[in-house]
Amino acid sequence: MQELRIDEVNNDLVIVANNRSKRPMDKIKNQTEEEIQVEYDLNCPFCRGNESYATIERYKIEDNSGWLTRSVDNKFPIVDELSDEIYGVHEVIIDTYRHNGTFYNMSELEFQDLFKTYKNRYKEFMKSESVQYVNIFKNFLRKSGASLTHPHSQIISLSLVPPEINKEEEVASKYFKENKTYLYDDIIKKEIEYKKRVINDNRYFLTIVPYASKYSGEVRIIFKEKIKFEQISDDHIKELSKVFNRLFKNLYKVNGYDPFNLCIHTHSKKLENKDEFNVHMHIIPRKYSFGGFELGTGMYVSSTNPEELANKLNFELD
Ligand SMILES: [Zn+2]
Ligand SMILES: [Zn+2]
Repeated sequence: MQELRIDEVNNDLVIVANNRSKRPMDKIKNQTEEEIQVEYDLNCPFCRGNESYATIERYKIEDNSGWLTRSVDNKFPIVDELSDEIYGVHEVIIDTYRHNGTFYNMSELEFQDLFKTYKNRYKEFMKSESVQYVNIFKNFLRKSGASLTHPHSQIISLSLVPPEINKEEEVASKYFKENKTYLYDDIIKKEIEYKKRVINDNRYFLTIVPYASKYSGEVRIIFKEKIKFEQISDDHIKELSKVFNRLFKNLYKVNGYDPFNLCIHTHSKKLENKDEFNVHMHIIPRKYSFGGFELGTGMYVSSTNPEELANKLNFELD
């Protein structure tokens, strides 16, 4: 039976239609790109040793062997440092020096360096008075929008608050006004009590398959504490790296080498009460694409059963 659900963080309307996963098209294996085997590619501008092909370096973490992760200017920025309307800075963060490094095979230490780099660039970008929001995201494989194969993330500062964040913050503020409790606190409490959609519950982070999402198969990681992204500590980063390492191992087991997007949603500068909003991450598989129904109605059809998926991805941390 079909069921109408609302994604509580943004009010998206989702029709959960489990029977649709039995459609013949879903049996067709997702056309994935070949997994890369080489650690170094002579022609790749993001490989260690090819620094001269890349743009200006803004930050790096290194050890005796050389840089491990680094952030460089984006050659083709979406925003414009000279514009008043869409002012911003756009950098590319090279996740790891390894050409064949992916979230599916990165070690906990590699994730730690990457998240430290996210934090450093985020903090730096937020300093500008013209900036209202800083967006961190990642496209993995061409189907998700990536143009270069070497694994990388992107960070963009914006002089406006993007509509998706505006909507999430407004939903959270309205919830607090109406209920006198915080939306994210209530989601965390409810999901931990219900258990079945929880992939991992730890000290600082709750990882779930959301009750409703317009993106079939989405995984959401919610910060339990009411901190801003720039306040993330080394302890948080350690736990988060463990979560990513284990989660992506399980995603690989369940879905294989699939394209995905990572979107990190943080506080905008305009949100007055920071406690209304918890930083969270959307991990979105790009197996499915929207059809005419979604594009024409702004309603979404999900063929994922959240409880089943959570059960497959579930893990404990040691
Ligand atoms: Zn490379
Ligand atoms: Zn969000």
